Amino acid sequence: MQIYGPVPSWRLGNSLGVDLVEAPDDHSKICSFDCLYCQLGHDGFKTNKPEKMDISEGDFEALRKKIEETKPDYITFSGEGEPTLNLNLGYAARRIKQMTDIPLAVLTNASFVNNSDVRKGLDYCDLVIAKLDAPNQELFEKINRPYESISLTNITEGIKLLKTNAAIQTLLFSYHGLTNADDETIKEMIEIYNGINKSKPITVFLGTAYRPTDKEGLNPVSEDRLESIASRIAGETGIKVIYYKEADSKTVSRQPKPFELRREISKLLKRRPCTQEDISTRFNNIDVSDILSSLVNDGVIRERTREGKKFYVMCRIN
Ligand code: SF4
Repeated sequence: MQIYGPVPSWRLGNSLGVDLVEAPDDHSKICSFDCLYCQLGHDGFKTNKPEKMDISEGDFEALRKKIEETKPDYITFSGEGEPTLNLNLGYAARRIKQMTDIPLAVLTNASFVNNSDVRKGLDYCDLVIAKLDAPNQELFEKINRPYESISLTNITEGIKLLKTNAAIQTLLFSYHGLTNADDETIKEMIEIYNGINKSKPITVFLGTAYRPTDKEGLNPVSEDRLESIASRIAGETGIKVIYYKEADSKTVSRQPKPFELRREISKLLKRRPCTQEDISTRFNNIDVSDILSSLVNDGVIRERTREGKKFYVMCRIN
């Protein structure tokens, strides 16, 4: 188990990341999908076999200390891949709930949510944020590029069976003529949201591909378009819709010792590209420019510009 952050999340405030899976050597992630827009790169290890991965007592003790030190708004299972690939997710959730009242969320691609053991684990969390980017199998396969046996219907039916709070997260974008943000696809998505919401009340989070990825030509949708899609979905379904707005980063009053800072920044960037401001606000607004320059000079990270903003990404991510 790896702990990183807290990181700024437009859905959850300051979110302390807990990574329950570890990508094998020479792979940038472990996941049952390979989404076009994935910010972890495209040399992942693709699997459809959840298994028990060990979590030590030392990991839980380190987490307890980090929670005390950083006082996050949320603790979130997320990271180097799909957290439900670890069948110890439920055990980890129960242990975390014993140590704190801070709500626990999980960011999942929901590919195993029709498996009752996985669902039982998810139900120990306070909020399951399930990815759903496409309304039909054909578009699902083009966007999320799942392990071949994974079916969109099984995902939507599995989400309906969750007992805990659930939100659907849809990431809207366009890529060389392929899009899930056009009016016709949104109409189909509304049918999917409605179908789930009748059995299992949901919130919808609408995001866009605003962080850099290795796919040239992968474009986010504008904030105006997100707002108009959000208002259409809310108007036609009555479902609460929250859409991405430029992060209002809350400063974390946490200042690791200088020797820890380089490692903490690397852990953060391994899981998501960040701007210098994103990073600085994580550490009490200190100036991190020298450390970023040194990581760039050492070939650990590199700069990428996206929509006029400079992001830092790990070098192994293309
Ligand atoms: S589900 Fe998440 S980690 Fe997996 S490929 Fe998609 S974006 Fe990447």
